[in-house]
Amino acid sequence: QAKADGKGLARFFQPEMDAYLKARKALESDLRKAVDRGEMDVHYQPFLITETGEISGYEALLRWNHPERGQISPAEFIPIAEEAGIINSLGNWVLRHACREAAGWQPHLIVAVNLSPVQFKSDGLLDTVVMALAAAGLPANRLEIEITESVLLDSGERVSSALRQLRGLGVRVAMDDFGTGYSSLATLRSFPFDKIKIDRSFIRDLDTRPDALSVVRLIVGLGESLGMSTTAEGVETQQQLECLRIAGCTHVQGFLFARPRPSSDLVASLAAETPGQPLRAIAN
Ligand code: C2E
Ligand code: MG
Ligand code: MG
Ligand code: MG
Repeated sequence: QAKADGKGLARFFQPEMDAYLKARKALESDLRKAVDRGEMDVHYQPFLITETGEISGYEALLRWNHPERGQISPAEFIPIAEEAGIINSLGNWVLRHACREAAGWQPHLIVAVNLSPVQFKSDGLLDTVVMALAAAGLPANRLEIEITESVLLDSGERVSSALRQLRGLGVRVAMDDFGTGYSSLATLRSFPFDKIKIDRSFIRDLDTRPDALSVVRLIVGLGESLGMSTTAEGVETQQQLECLRIAGCTHVQGFLFARPRPSSDLVASLAAETPGQPLRAIAN
């Protein structure tokens, strides 16, 4: 009976499995060509000083405009790029692109680039970053890299020494999505981050769960005592912003202020803005 069931299941799932693998292979092959075909773009979302509303910089977020499927989320294609061994070339492209664009912004603005844990497993990361800065003519202290704790978890000494060297050059290092992993606290101790980005899930809960404010306060206090700034991700409501002010969170980022936009939009609005002018919370 069990055997028959097993066979039945296999027959039932096989066509779906084949279709899935086929679609996945096709996407992988499209992904390999996407940069050369001009389908990739980088959008930018500002992060602001909570107290003044001044923009400190912009996070670079990769966008893929697929010819048939339209916009595909990085949450979907980054993992594919990682598994298919494409992430190093793709990540390198993002880094160069973002540094070049940031070199055209006002000189106080930082560009934050997300790096995949896989990029840390290859030896040349330090050189890659140095070359991207040099090619763009961007000072190292205007680049911030965002990494998740998994980067430090599975690769240990080699990665943290690469990070230390980067930091030695003046590149800032931020811990992204803080609070979601297994050992966020341990990771925080293992490397002197410049910034902690508090995961969006905690910010979302500020509207509904009284304990969320305590958690945010705790993270902010931790940041303060370790000399790290704190950025709240995914701020969407005025109420969340108010809580973050109370908690003393130093920076905020989210749809309440601005969605990620192409650099062309950004340059136009940057030209219109007076330097240091506060960005008001806007509904968009
Ligand atoms: P992340 O680095 O944590 O980026 C924040 C994500 O939250 C972005 O999604 C952003 O558009 C979104 N977001 C910002 N504000 C709000 C808000 O107020 N509400 C909501 N609901 N969402 C908000 P996105 O652009 O889809 O990127 C998803 C993830 O993909 C990123 O998470 C990052 O892990 C990864 N990613 C994006 N670009 C790159 C890249 O160039 N390289 C690598 N390795 N990963 C990237
Ligand atoms: Mg990020
Ligand atoms: Mg994040
Ligand atoms: Mg995230």
